[in-house]
Amino acid sequence: MAKNIQAIRGMHDVLPEQTQKWQRVESVFQQVLSSYGYQEIRLPIVEKTELFNRSIGEVTDIVEKEMYTFDDRNGDSLTLRPEGTAGCLRAGIEHGLLHNQIQRLWYYGPMFRHERPQKGRYRQFYQLGVETYGMAGPDIDAEIIVIGHRLWTQLGIRDKLELQLNTLGSKEERQHYREELIVYFSKHEALLDDDSRRRLQTNPLRILDSKNPEIQALVEQAPTLMNSLGVDSLNHFKGLTGLLDDLGIDYTINPRLVRGLDYYGHTVFEWVTCELGAQGTVCAGGRYDSLVEQLGARNSSAIGFAMGMERLMALVEMLDEVSCMTRLVDVYMICVGDKAQAVGMVLAEKLRDQLPELKLQFHCGGGSFKSQFKKADKSGAEVALIVGDVEVANNKVGVKSLRVHQDQSSMSQTEVVGYLQQSLSLEC
Ligand code: ATP
Ligand code: MG
Repeated sequence: MAKNIQAIRGMHDVLPEQTQKWQRVESVFQQVLSSYGYQEIRLPIVEKTELFNRSIGEVTDIVEKEMYTFDDRNGDSLTLRPEGTAGCLRAGIEHGLLHNQIQRLWYYGPMFRHERPQKGRYRQFYQLGVETYGMAGPDIDAEIIVIGHRLWTQLGIRDKLELQLNTLGSKEERQHYREELIVYFSKHEALLDDDSRRRLQTNPLRILDSKNPEIQALVEQAPTLMNSLGVDSLNHFKGLTGLLDDLGIDYTINPRLVRGLDYYGHTVFEWVTCELGAQGTVCAGGRYDSLVEQLGARNSSAIGFAMGMERLMALVEMLDEVSCMTRLVDVYMICVGDKAQAVGMVLAEKLRDQLPELKLQFHCGGGSFKSQFKKADKSGAEVALIVGDVEVANNKVGVKSLRVHQDQSSMSQTEVVGYLQQSLSLEC
């Protein structure tokens, strides 16, 4: 027999039981973001390869080795989006959203990177992204950080995450720092691994981001950018830390934090946890003013973050399971007999009309009262509604609580509406 086809390595299904938890978390995203006046933008999953090459940077992990790139049937090179910032900015510029305007946007959806799959690292993963345009900060920098803080608080995982903060200064300051780093790492070239040696000339700041423990030890002793920043950059950073102090948000300044992407300048930050092993960065972001210009728009202020949903869910799932669960089904409708089935189905529609919040599952596939009651119990419903020949003849509905010991009662269809509304505390 042919082997069953399985999902692609690193690309996972979100099964119904998990989806329920994801939805609960997604509704927190929506509620928190709209409370700050952010609007959702929906973007294509596929973009021209050039967009990512030009924005993320040729010498980054993503562009060098992680993109899913293919030729379209007409020969155009396309790429499954590895992140959302570039596409969001592309859309903003294309539709004139950046021209003398302020924007606060968010998106949510799958991203694709050809990485080595492991816990917390997948080839298809979901991100919530927040992007703002037209604000030079540091007030908006503080706002997007406080949004993260509020999300974690609402999800009950605030104490599992630490905020790390750094500034990458201006382009000129980074250029100068780059030279300093080349001198420093060149002195220790023998200790560098292949990746770092390659980066020494192309992008030495990326060496600071290395995950290799031996390189990290070397990085500890490297010069820091913070020491050679000018007044403007320092003031921006002080402005941000001052606001965070006023807001009561704790942070750790980490001078080695550079982020993996090329387009960042000034503020960069990560929300990290020590509860997920090596894949501890749940949310990461920063200011990318220069990317806006690089992609062709004049307005040159932008800051955002992206949060990995799978890593976030791993933290949320450490909480009390029950707090994540909402009831899937309130009412299970049992019908025995052809006529009863038709009457029951019409009644189910009426109940859904009158009680829009009601979650009613209608039994399909026939069977005895006994077998249908078993299914009703398994569904987790609070109440079973029963329609059989007797009920059809009397124009009544049988009602039985599945969770509290109570005899089955008989009601008119109108009485059922009132009963469900009251016993399930539903709005009409
Ligand atoms: P890492 O250092 O873990 O590789 P990154 O710097 O590549 O992360 P970003 O591009 O900043 O990550 O993406 C933002 C967030 O998206 C990460 O902090 C993480 O939570 C999530 N993320 C990134 N890559 C993956 C992946 N392959 N699988 C699952 N989540 C991911
Ligand atoms: Mg990565």
